[in-house]
Amino acid sequence: MSDLHTVINPATAKPVIDVPLASLADADYAIERAHAAFPAWKAMAPGERAALLRRFAAVVDAHIDELAELEVRNAGHTWGNARWEAGNVRDCLNYYAGAPERLFGRQIPVAGGVDVTFHEPLGVVGIIVPWNFPMPIAGWGFAPALAAGNTVVLKPAELTPLTAIRLGELALEAGLPADVLTVIPGKGSVVGARFVTHELVRKVCFTGSTEVGKGIMRGCADQVKRVTLELGGKSANIVFADADIAAAAASAPYAVFDNAGQDCCARSRILVERSAYDEFLSRLEPAVLGMRVLDPSDESSEMGPLISAQQKATVTGYLDEVSVAFAGSTPGGDGFWVPPSVVTVDDPAARIWREEVFGPVVAVMPFDDEADAVAKANDTEYGLSGSIFSSDLGRGLRVARGVEAGNLSVNSHSSVRYWTPFGGYKQSGLGRELGPDAPMAFTEEKNVFIAH
Ligand code: NAD
Repeated sequence: MSDLHTVINPATAKPVIDVPLASLADADYAIERAHAAFPAWKAMAPGERAALLRRFAAVVDAHIDELAELEVRNAGHTWGNARWEAGNVRDCLNYYAGAPERLFGRQIPVAGGVDVTFHEPLGVVGIIVPWNFPMPIAGWGFAPALAAGNTVVLKPAELTPLTAIRLGELALEAGLPADVLTVIPGKGSVVGARFVTHELVRKVCFTGSTEVGKGIMRGCADQVKRVTLELGGKSANIVFADADIAAAAASAPYAVFDNAGQDCCARSRILVERSAYDEFLSRLEPAVLGMRVLDPSDESSEMGPLISAQQKATVTGYLDEVSVAFAGSTPGGDGFWVPPSVVTVDDPAARIWREEVFGPVVAVMPFDDEADAVAKANDTEYGLSGSIFSSDLGRGLRVARGVEAGNLSVNSHSSVRYWTPFGGYKQSGLGRELGPDAPMAFTEEKNVFIAH
């Protein structure tokens, strides 16, 4: 280990701890050890692998508050979110603990023999995690990958390594064999890039920005390396005039300002049917102004700071270009605070309407009819999630089918359940995570014909 990275509490801008950053040689060593651990992990009886994952889940469960506290301090997450995130890792482990005994192959009718298929693990899987949801995104990768019999090397984001490091320790405490799950804190350009180039890493699961994701996909092409990409978003929240406007306006802030808008699924564009536009905005304003934007060490905080001074500068840059219709408050101080801000937009070419801001900013625009709503929602290179509010469920379903995105919800903003598939259309990603099929994405299907 060579360089140190100082982890900062984003609510106060004060240092928390120094974390060593892995060198290229450290990354190579971890990958080689993970490769060496693979045959025994693959060969382990499915029930035994399942039991170890359940024990890992139980150990995580016993440390929910400790993990949550680390995330409150490291990532500025609210206590409620941070506890949910730690619980999500536990739940993913328990859910995918059911997979080792259910990785069924097929028996396919053939003449002259028997034909069977096997789902075989890939080997070492490299998981690259962003800073916005350090725990869940780690768990979405390692739980199904381990369940399918792969070993995992995981690189947390430089800014938020603490919970991933602790999860690596808890895996050992739970009895997972050494080198089956290795957390390697380090720079993307060093450790993350090494996952792409190292021949012993058979798949890269990347979550992060679209630009970095494109580079990773190009790099993986050199070895025809398997790759899953979970990238950016600019999701639409579509509100029809026949919806419960009060409920839609009351929930809209939480669909975009949760995690201070640093959420790939943030509904950062609100489309409102013209006849309900004024009423919606007048109801949205008190909901936004009433949000409790507080240091997340206060349990009642509903929105914390941005992750870094750099992220704050990026978001402020977008706000400087527009006039803000209304905005909430911040506690001030040295932390990286931006108030929840609402902007009305007429021009669909406006940067704030097209680009992922990744901060507490939502842009609102009227639409005329169903076709216009779908066209406006789809006028983006992204396609991760979205919501539709209407009392006509037929319309809700029609519009959900019309929007080019991977995760839609009708009269709800929920996007993520570990037991349903998650991923993006268009430039929001490639492949799916979570859901019942996730372990299959960490296997090759082998076909064997036996003549008789
Ligand atoms: P980022 O792309 O800068 O970094 C993500 C991770 O990639 C980090 O661990 C980083 O160290 C690493 N990395 C950076 N350069 C690399 C390289 N050249 N090779 C290998 N690894 C490299 O993204 P970020 O700023 O940490 O995260 C924010 C972005 O993540 C947003 O665009 C957001 O929408 C996206 N995101 C998407 C999802 C999803 O599921 N679709 C979920 C969360 C975040």
